[in-house]
Amino acid sequence: MESFDIAVIGAGAAGMMCAAVAGQLGRRVVLIDHSQRLAEKIRISGGGRCNFTNLYAGPANYLSANPHFCRSALARYTPRDFMALLKRHHVTWHEKHKGQLFCNESSDAVINVLKSECDAGGVVWRTPLSVEQVRQDAEGRFMLDTHAGPIAARALIVATGGLSIPKIGATDFAYRLAKQFGHKLIDTRPALVPLTFAAADWEPFSALSGVSLEVRIATGSKQSGAEFDEDLLLTHRGLSGPGVLQISSYWQPGEPVHIDLLPNRDAAAALLEAKTGTRRQIANLLSEWVPQRLAHVWLETHQIPAEARVADLPDKVLRRVGEALSRWTLTPNGTEGYRKAEVTRGGIDTRELSSTTMMSARAPGLYFIGEAVDVTGWLGGYNFQWAWASGVAAGQAAADHVRRA
Ligand SMILES: Cc1cc2nc3c(=O)[nH]c(=O)nc-3n(C[C@H](O)[C@H](O)[C@H](O)COP(=O)(O)OP(=O)(O)OC[C@H]3O[C@@H](n4cnc5c(N)ncnc54)[C@H](O)[C@@H]3O)c2cc1C
Repeated sequence: MESFDIAVIGAGAAGMMCAAVAGQLGRRVVLIDHSQRLAEKIRISGGGRCNFTNLYAGPANYLSANPHFCRSALARYTPRDFMALLKRHHVTWHEKHKGQLFCNESSDAVINVLKSECDAGGVVWRTPLSVEQVRQDAEGRFMLDTHAGPIAARALIVATGGLSIPKIGATDFAYRLAKQFGHKLIDTRPALVPLTFAAADWEPFSALSGVSLEVRIATGSKQSGAEFDEDLLLTHRGLSGPGVLQISSYWQPGEPVHIDLLPNRDAAAALLEAKTGTRRQIANLLSEWVPQRLAHVWLETHQIPAEARVADLPDKVLRRVGEALSRWTLTPNGTEGYRKAEVTRGGIDTRELSSTTMMSARAPGLYFIGEAVDVTGWLGGYNFQWAWASGVAAGQAAADHVRRA
């Protein structure tokens, strides 16, 4: 039987970071993954350029039933720490939008950094390898039954991620293992995901597929909801784009979303103002404010002829059109699901994990990190920052746990 100090299951963002840290602290670490291809989510992230962190990442950018849980790990391993790591490996990047950092070259640069950090820590790779069962022996060692024989380890770190994108290897392994050890789960659902609508509700807008504009989008109450100023993209099935992905993480089934299509203007007041001193057609005026195709469909759905002159339309009609532009209210019938979701909301309840070490309160030596736990970041590099930070916290803690055992 093979025996190690630490076994890490899941060689994605969090698992590789964690294995590298523990290995470099002198522990004998094995890193196991069932996939042929390494770190596939890093590879496809950020459109192939990996939005690896966000300069402004802080606890307020994460959703969790236990909102303070992420605070300690994020404070101890910051975006600057990851930037320093990339710099040591001569990887260059640029800031795109609101603190989002992307690689100048491809995402492979980040994967190569993590691989070489693992090599520097002497991490032993076992891929592709499936873990069929995990048990703890009388001395508290973790016994992993794999299709290639048993592996024993003093500490076990579970970094198998969430449920999004099953076709590249996502599984519910972490949740099953957590339950086996008596952990509670927070209900999971797709997040950072496009929203869909009933065919009849979306029919008037389906022709607008491809139209995009900057909006203010909101859902829920002041306490549990959120509001983002970001781009919206209309698709043939519903709404997508960064603003919608952000709001999808907060959206509750059955609830509406509210969209201000003209966030920098009081649309009703501006339309009423335009009545005087102009003979312009309403479609021409609206096309200055929103994309032309949207302006035309908007007027059609409000039964106003595109060629009608603003000056000839009654105030109450202009007010109705303007107010609707400022508060377009729609109720999605669902999301595009895990097939398209960038992350999984919910997961292992953090109230039974240590926020400084990520260790289970139920099984000493067992750790859960990354997306598998109930910490979900906004769009924009926050999810990787959580993977790095929780990976470092658990890597250091497990190395220490093994030393003292
Ligand atoms: C299309 C897309 C784009 C994204 N872009 C960004 C971005 O630009 N910035 C950002 O911050 N976040 C982004 N994310 C989210 C980010 O990729 C994840 O939050 C992050 O990868 C989570 O890290 P993790 O290590 O917890 O899980 P993962 O990186 O998903 O790694 C989990 C690993 O566990 C392995 N595994 C799963 N089940 C088993 C099992 N049963 N046995 C063995 N191994 C198993 C998997 O093969 C995988 O290698 C994106 C996600 C997607 C889907």
